[in-house]
Amino acid sequence: MRVLVAVKRVVDFNVKVRVRSDGTGVDLSNVKMSINPFDEIAVEEAVRLREKGVVSEVVAVSCGTNACQETLRTAMAIGADRGILVETDAELQPLAVAKLLKALVDREQPQLVILGKQAIDNDCNQTGQMLAALAGMGQATFASRVELVGDCADVTREIDGGLETLRLKLPAVVTTDLRLNEPRYATLPNIMKAKKKPLDVVTPDHLGVDVAPRLKTLDTAEPAGRSAGVKVPDVAALIEKLRNEAKVI
Ligand code: AMP
Repeated sequence: MRVLVAVKRVVDFNVKVRVRSDGTGVDLSNVKMSINPFDEIAVEEAVRLREKGVVSEVVAVSCGTNACQETLRTAMAIGADRGILVETDAELQPLAVAKLLKALVDREQPQLVILGKQAIDNDCNQTGQMLAALAGMGQATFASRVELVGDCADVTREIDGGLETLRLKLPAVVTTDLRLNEPRYATLPNIMKAKKKPLDVVTPDHLGVDVAPRLKTLDTAEPAGRSAGVKVPDVAALIEKLRNEAKVI
């Protein structure tokens, strides 16, 4: 059984992003980029399924510029068997990525596609759902447990006030939540091995996909700064402010 895992190159989660002065987006020059954390969890889950013997091959896919090869090498250092880069300099929106992944699903015929629940740069939380619709597959989003049982996947997901377990017929799409697993550290020998694993490069044209953006960003703005706090001399003054200014007691 083959598993396809989507991995996006995003601004590292430790970086404090800065908005470009013209409001057209965030400044990406000299900023550390990493694999999207939810996608690292997706790769880890696929590799664990292979280690259990229920999956035979894990294929990582990234869509974007040539620099995404680095993201694919990270996925392969965690344990993916090979990588596919869909190379383009175009701005990719979730619908375009979903169409590219659908074209690769047709080519690679995976039984399971695992994506992150959201990319931490745009927070869209759309690609997995769009892919499932385009490919006509069942989907389970925000997975915190995945088990393959015959030709089905049992997926537990976190919902308001509890857990829900769904049984999906394969092939299916699963998106990962934070609690699904804790990804392993890529060891130096595995980083070295990853450099030798196969990495195919294709383009959206090869796949017959039009990636033209359908949405236009009108503006990007920093969140409003917090106003400075004040020191109160004693408890009575604090209570007075909480009661009469903040009106919370
Ligand atoms: P989003 O819908 O943009 O929040 O992204 C959800 C998930 O879709 C991510 O966690 C990735 O698994 C996948 N994804 C989004 N964009 C890309 C991309 N450019 N390349 C590979 N996977 C992507």
